[in-house]
Amino acid sequence: MASLTNQGIAMNSMSKARLRLGQLEHALARIDDPEFGLCLNGGEPIALRRLLALPEKVLCVDCAE
Ligand SMILES: [Zn+2]
Repeated sequence: MASLTNQGIAMNSMSKARLRLGQLEHALARIDDPEFGLCLNGGEPIALRRLLALPEKVLCVDCAE
């Protein structure tokens, strides 16, 4: 049942894509927030490069480790 397996894989990656889309929408909704770009833990600014690469990340590199 190769077709069933492929369908399962396709559905799995689709739900992953949907999850990621939700995270990005969440991040985009926060761009208007004056605290966007600040680490939720320490409040220090998150590197712009990190924000652009991973906009859903809310912790700076130090706190994420
Ligand atoms: Zn931090």
